[in-house]
Amino acid sequence: MHINKNDFPILQQQMHQHDMVYLDNAATSQKPQVVIDAITKYYQLSNANVHRGIYELSQHATEAYEQARDKVTAFLHAQQREEVLFTRGTTESLNWIACTYGIANVHDGDEIVLSYMEHHANIVPWQQLAKKVNAKLKYIALNEDGTLNMADAQKQITSRTKIVAVAHASNVLGVVNPIKKLADLAHQQGAVIVVDGAQSTPHMPVDVQQIQADFFAFSGHKMLGPMGIGVLYGKRQLLEAMPPAQFGGEMIERVGLLDATFQPLPWKFEAGTPNVAGAIGLGVAIDYLNQIGMDNVQQHEKDLVNYILPKLSEIDGVRVYGPQAANHSGVIAFNVDQLHPHDLATALDQQGVAIRAGHHCAQPLMHYLNASATARASFYIYNTMADADKLVDSIMATKEYFN
Ligand code: PLP
Repeated sequence: MHINKNDFPILQQQMHQHDMVYLDNAATSQKPQVVIDAITKYYQLSNANVHRGIYELSQHATEAYEQARDKVTAFLHAQQREEVLFTRGTTESLNWIACTYGIANVHDGDEIVLSYMEHHANIVPWQQLAKKVNAKLKYIALNEDGTLNMADAQKQITSRTKIVAVAHASNVLGVVNPIKKLADLAHQQGAVIVVDGAQSTPHMPVDVQQIQADFFAFSGHKMLGPMGIGVLYGKRQLLEAMPPAQFGGEMIERVGLLDATFQPLPWKFEAGTPNVAGAIGLGVAIDYLNQIGMDNVQQHEKDLVNYILPKLSEIDGVRVYGPQAANHSGVIAFNVDQLHPHDLATALDQQGVAIRAGHHCAQPLMHYLNASATARASFYIYNTMADADKLVDSIMATKEYFN
């Protein structure tokens, strides 16, 4: 796979007089010039509010916005464009489901099943829902290597389960979960499965029909797109039955003094002026990824991980969390003996290497792993073997410095 790093102007910079090696892609990805240009061009030539104007400029904006929806529909292999709703990101998408579908369908004594590896965005909305309706939260255990314990999943998902909400890929452990199997378990019990796709959609082919997701959420900014745009996919019959999460302009059909009727899908959920430039930018990011091919994106990250994991594990005192290289995604969490991850990240930054340190918005997982924090390196399409070498060399240099 050939990626021209020059497509990404931000990566041409130096940090602390070193060529920058950006390894915090699980937090957010960098943007290629074509995405930046598309946003600029929209504001230069097409900016108008969508769905309301009769004039030509507004029609251009509306067409571009709706074309972005078509691109997302195809990218996710959704059946219909009506199943694709624009949101601000994964967090908003998951909150919408909890506070609309959740309130309507989860009742006193029902159960919501999560896993121990969830991001706070896929925990806290369910906690709030559980409190409101007096439902019970349950967590699927993990195996020693961080993978999901499917025997426990089978035990936790019962006839009382109404929602199973699980990450497609972990933002810490580098684990990809068997969503289709979980969906089968959920469906056998009459529950729906909500998939947090924040860490899968940017990195692998996603087919929401094949994995049988009822709901699927992701963020544009982690896949070369702009911040402030994301998607909630939902099966049409679920979205038809689900009340909107927000109310106001754009989503209404007719408003009287005491009541209102709503637009059909997908607009029924998109209250207020949407992030048109964001949707267009996301569409162009999808074009860019499609040109590479999502199979190639996934293979590139596998190659990087196969290359670096043995090297990392060989460093004296390094503990890598998560499964063996063969089953590992491009996210690697690790700790170095005697070094706090914040100190390590600060020292790496001085050498031009940007990694993450902390709890990665997954405090229950940290608790489960008995680690207060970890370092995390996460790779993407523009990272190279040389970047991986730089990470390993910088860790060695840091260890030497602190010894
Ligand atoms: N879920 C996972 C697994 C994530 O990694 C993230 C972000 O790091 C989120 C949800 C939240 O995404 P956002 O902040 O874009 O809403």
